[in-house]
Amino acid sequence: MGNYSLVCRSCGERCEGDAYRCPSCGGILNTEYPFDRRDALCSALRNARQYWDYEPFFPIGRECEKVTMGEGFTPLVPAPGIARAFGIRQMSIKNEGLNPTGTFKDRCMSISISKAKALGASAVVIGSAGNAGAAAAAYAARAGIPCYVMVPTSTPPERVAQIQLYGARVILVRGSVTDCIDLIARVYRERGWHNVTTASAYNPFQADSEKAIAYEMAKASGWEVPDWLFVPIGGGGILSGIYRGYLDLFRLGLVKKLPRMVGTQEEGCCAVVNAFRAGRKPAQIERVENPAGIAVAIADAYPLDGETALQAIYDSGGYSESVSSAEILEAQRLLGRTEGIFAEAASSTTLAAAKKLREKGVVQAGDSVACVVTGSGLKDLQLAARHMPRPAEVEIDPEQLNRAVDGMEAAV
Ligand SMILES: *Cc1c(COP(=O)(O)O)cnc(C)c1O
Ligand SMILES: [Zn+2]
Repeated sequence: MGNYSLVCRSCGERCEGDAYRCPSCGGILNTEYPFDRRDALCSALRNARQYWDYEPFFPIGRECEKVTMGEGFTPLVPAPGIARAFGIRQMSIKNEGLNPTGTFKDRCMSISISKAKALGASAVVIGSAGNAGAAAAAYAARAGIPCYVMVPTSTPPERVAQIQLYGARVILVRGSVTDCIDLIARVYRERGWHNVTTASAYNPFQADSEKAIAYEMAKASGWEVPDWLFVPIGGGGILSGIYRGYLDLFRLGLVKKLPRMVGTQEEGCCAVVNAFRAGRKPAQIERVENPAGIAVAIADAYPLDGETALQAIYDSGGYSESVSSAEILEAQRLLGRTEGIFAEAASSTTLAAAKKLREKGVVQAGDSVACVVTGSGLKDLQLAARHMPRPAEVEIDPEQLNRAVDGMEAAV
């Protein structure tokens, strides 16, 4: 074992060795780090140049061979045009779309597949809306471990093809991502599969991966912290993880405050927003029936890590907001044409919600805002293409070309 312990959320027992669930009661396992080498940890955070330099904050033992390919350490991009458009002091974008498979899920799977390999997994399985499945498939390919991926039938075909391209075995499930995860939970033990689903309840080894998003953002901005940090909520893991990352930085004295966390969802599937609006306790989040919308990556009927996400929102004085499909598409296009960043629909909920909260006066003119663009828009090209006008088309003829260009200039 390395410099961490697995501690049961239900009975408090500290595990000897690694496990996916509490050996005594079956409860969910949290990771704990002693934080006893403060100077060493601070210098690791200050000097990090790549994702795995954060290893002291990951549940990894010295025996572990890393399955890695340049995940993480994505750019924090200033977005002054968006700041002007929204009427705020500062906007920055953490662009996770630049990860090897196009989303932040590579962070989760670099650690999860490394761990599965160290534990001698003969196969891994994951229930996913598609992005975590693609990441699992890619990292499993590098590790030489067979990978089974269950995704909803409604998953965009690009994403299914991507998973297959990495050599994974895909099964389409007639249900939501929550149904995929529930279905796997009923068979993975008998099959001897290691479940690498990105939910703490099934896989405690991925939950710390997103802490590094906070570490990287803080380092890139000279240890400044945005007033508001917008993060999409699917299962809730990424928001919880980023907040825990900022808590680490705060405890170690590297940052002076915590960001207000804003969890964003689409109207057709917004269990956390519903609970926030009703002022409910984190344990009282209710499952959404018949999830709908275009942000397929966050269409979790029941957010398995919603409890810790909503707790982070409450603790940080944050907010939770839902946006419509039309608002998502508008934000996606605004980010593209203003800053040159093509965000997935799920990721565009952050921009759309920032605009909405500015209009409501929750976010104020003097505030700084950061949005986590969790995945690349290239992941769902058909969605973007469906909403774009048909381009002009001409013969190989300068006159026709000039007429077409004049028409475009007149339209601007
Ligand atoms: C998985 C995913 C999310 C949501 O992450 P959770 O940890 O499930 O909340 C958001 N955006 C994209 C692009 C994703 O793939
Ligand atoms: Zn227990």
